[in-house]
Amino acid sequence: MVENRPELPWYRRLHWQIFLAMAAGLVAGFVGGEDFASQVAWLGTTFVRLLKMIIVPLVITSITVGVASVGGAGLGRLFGKTLGYYVLSSLLAILVGLFLVNLIRPGVGASIGGAAAQELPELETPASLSDLLLRMIPTNVLRAAAHPDMLSIIFFCILFGAAIASLPETPRRTLVGFFEAAFQAMMRLTSWIIRLAPIGVFGLITNVAGTSGWDAFRALGLYMITIASGLTIHLFVTLPILLLVLGRIRPRIHFRNMVEPLTMAFSTSSSGATLPVTLRAVEKRVGVSNRVSSFVLPMGATVNMDGTALYECAGVLFIAQVMGAELGITQQIVVVITALLASIGAAAVPSAGLVIIFLVLEAVNLRGPEVDLIVGTMLAIDRPLDMYRTAVNVFSDSCGAAIIARSEGESEVDVE
Ligand code: ASP
Repeated sequence: MVENRPELPWYRRLHWQIFLAMAAGLVAGFVGGEDFASQVAWLGTTFVRLLKMIIVPLVITSITVGVASVGGAGLGRLFGKTLGYYVLSSLLAILVGLFLVNLIRPGVGASIGGAAAQELPELETPASLSDLLLRMIPTNVLRAAAHPDMLSIIFFCILFGAAIASLPETPRRTLVGFFEAAFQAMMRLTSWIIRLAPIGVFGLITNVAGTSGWDAFRALGLYMITIASGLTIHLFVTLPILLLVLGRIRPRIHFRNMVEPLTMAFSTSSSGATLPVTLRAVEKRVGVSNRVSSFVLPMGATVNMDGTALYECAGVLFIAQVMGAELGITQQIVVVITALLASIGAAAVPSAGLVIIFLVLEAVNLRGPEVDLIVGTMLAIDRPLDMYRTAVNVFSDSCGAAIIARSEGESEVDVE
């Protein structure tokens, strides 16, 4: 058990409260239907708004402090390890998806007419890799924070933190002290908001259960099974192996420490909204230092999305199969690479993965009204898949933080 980990009684009981709220939400949603769901949906919306409220100040203060206190040569090393882990874990996830979709072939002969196509939410999709990179540089930092454009904020804060680290002693101390204190205040605020989690989760789950139609699920059953199996393999086999091999960490302990962020990711379908909870759990329960977690996690929530990467790859191949356009090996490689980039470019918000699938589809020349209809139909059953892939995204970030902390010599990580 990590020393000075606060064992507040309410915190101990919180994940049970959340599980209970999930179960109650499921029952309430299915029994009460759409009417009841619409009456309690505001509980979930309020909770997610509160979480979103603190994301921008939390990311700004945590990255700035993280980078400013790491500074110099240590920063390059940390950055390299973080990026290395992100690319490795996302690629492994994509390969699992690729394997399963070729094995199960859920789209071959599939008729998706049974599910009602839905309107896609409007999210910005970067047109290409160079566009993605260029858009990382904010022309106006305040606008990036107001938008919010997480990649730009992270880009600026890394540079800002590095600049602080290079200042002489007096100004450096003042600035680090200021951002450190602001970060602590944000974490305190996070704790307050997390106490409302059971109520928020009840509202969110009731809404999902009450508004999802079963017909849609039946029509796309095999496709959902394929994605869910891939996510399960990645969550319960691949990532635990990475924890064991790269971090010498026992997966069971890490899972136990991450129950709250996992349930939160599942209920909100947003790694961004879950970030405050993830940061808190990785520091207080897993025992990762602020230096590592405040660098690895905000970046991870934005760019490291294993579940989404798997989904992009499997989803595109599924669409190709439905259209009778089976992709050859070269095209599948293109899908793998663009799926990785798409998962980096996807925003950490609900359904972002489905919207950004167009980027990957474009790369293999799949476009047109038929494709739009299939994607619109996939949206009808996207929510449960989104919940699951978000949980996988968040768990992978936390594994990265733990592994990197271990490699930096932090021995108190995930000890019983
Ligand atoms: N909802 C996911 C997340 O926030 C992104 C996605 O749609 O795949 O991590």
